[in-house]
Amino acid sequence: MKFGGTSVANKEAIQRAISIVRGRLDQRPVVVVSAMSKVTDSLYRIAGEAAAQHEAEIASLLDQLRNRHIDTASELLADSGHFLNEAISDINTICDYLEKVALSVCALGELSARSKAIIISQGEILSSTIIAHAMNAYGIDTEWLDARKMIISSGNPLNSDPIFSEINARVPGIIEKGLKHAQAVITQGFISSAIDGEPTVLGRGGSDYSASLIGMAINAEKIEIWTDVDGVRSADPRYIDNTLCLEQISFEEAAEMAHFGAKVLHPLTIEPAIMKNIPIFVLNSMNPDHKGTAILANSLIGEGAKAVSWKEDILMINVFSPKMINATGFVQKVFGVFSDNHISVDIISTSEANISVTVAGNQDISHLTKQLSEFAQVNVDNCKSQVSVIGKNVVNHDDVLQRIVNALNGYNVNMISQGASNINVSFVIERNQLNEIVNSIHKSLFQQ
Ligand code: ADP
Ligand code: ASP
Ligand code: MG
Repeated sequence: MKFGGTSVANKEAIQRAISIVRGRLDQRPVVVVSAMSKVTDSLYRIAGEAAAQHEAEIASLLDQLRNRHIDTASELLADSGHFLNEAISDINTICDYLEKVALSVCALGELSARSKAIIISQGEILSSTIIAHAMNAYGIDTEWLDARKMIISSGNPLNSDPIFSEINARVPGIIEKGLKHAQAVITQGFISSAIDGEPTVLGRGGSDYSASLIGMAINAEKIEIWTDVDGVRSADPRYIDNTLCLEQISFEEAAEMAHFGAKVLHPLTIEPAIMKNIPIFVLNSMNPDHKGTAILANSLIGEGAKAVSWKEDILMINVFSPKMINATGFVQKVFGVFSDNHISVDIISTSEANISVTVAGNQDISHLTKQLSEFAQVNVDNCKSQVSVIGKNVVNHDDVLQRIVNALNGYNVNMISQGASNINVSFVIERNQLNEIVNSIHKSLFQQ
């Protein structure tokens, strides 16, 4: 059971989460929590201010952080004297340590990946500590477990890759031991460590991924992602009116939605669940009686368009070379450069002398374009967005394609790409038309 930031944002949210866990005690719940909402953002800011040697800003951010956690613990545990004292003492220990790390970064003016990983990890440590005390105070015998002993990862410490074999080897024993003495165990999302114990994290939004990795390792019956919406919807309800709640979608559809911009799940969450065929349920902690969305094996899911997702900020890179015509090896050479620069490509389209690709917008591609320019003409367009329609057999099912084309009538479309597995069709469009286009496509597919 994973609870996201808004689901543990304050006293009321934590009490709701605890009562949801209480309803599952017969299923031996493993609880995974995110930091309280906005806390990770503020920890990133603390890291940034430390690197910039802004001592006063650090002090003020740390004060706010400490007060927010102490206030929440005090509200939750007002009637539970010794639990409150222990919680406050733990919060102070964690915040003192955070302060020490931030001030030493500040003194040096140098932020290593290691120090940054330590700083941004503290939100989950704080939230899980408070919630563990509250669960115990509210009569649920709960053991706090350290995710850094379970989720082992490698690569970039700030966006690390879990090592499945290590996780599968370590998690079951630790959880089994915890559940021997307690009714529930609680651990942190997002945070991990390298095999030598160095601190790492799984990247922004990574708590979903932590939950599915743990689910995989213990062969969980199901993985529940408790968030702030009634399941996965036909589009992000923050931007589109009248979205539909999807009762069931396939692992592949969910992965594709997440990969193509729907921020409801971390894009890699699905992979561990697929490996063990564990259903994932996306549920609303503010509306726990709602059925939410079941994410299941592909064979159980019907065809047709399920959702519209988008990426507002992308770069469209066109690589042109007359030498490409009838030449072998050109495509390999182009993608070799992307691979060497660790830049992952979203969608691709080719014509005789031209390769167009899209990549995420928030990255520096100057080295890539420099290398490509050594053998081709390169043009980068940063005024585009990407819209995808996701669903099993999306292009061939009924009149889906016709409806999309109707919705796009009158707009500029720069690239069209149909995913090889026929589960998504994507369009590159003008960024200033994104809002109109996603509304038009959603309306044409789901509101007629
Ligand atoms: P949490 O803190 O629980 O991890 P997130 O903010 O990461 O929550 O994810 C939930 C949010 O995802 C929702 O509030 C919603 O705005 C957004 N979202 C984006 N696309 C979708 C979608 N297709 N269906 C549901 N929610 C979506
Ligand atoms: N707290 C982390 C973040 O804000 C991880 C998560 O919430 O999933 O990115
Ligand atoms: Mg999230």
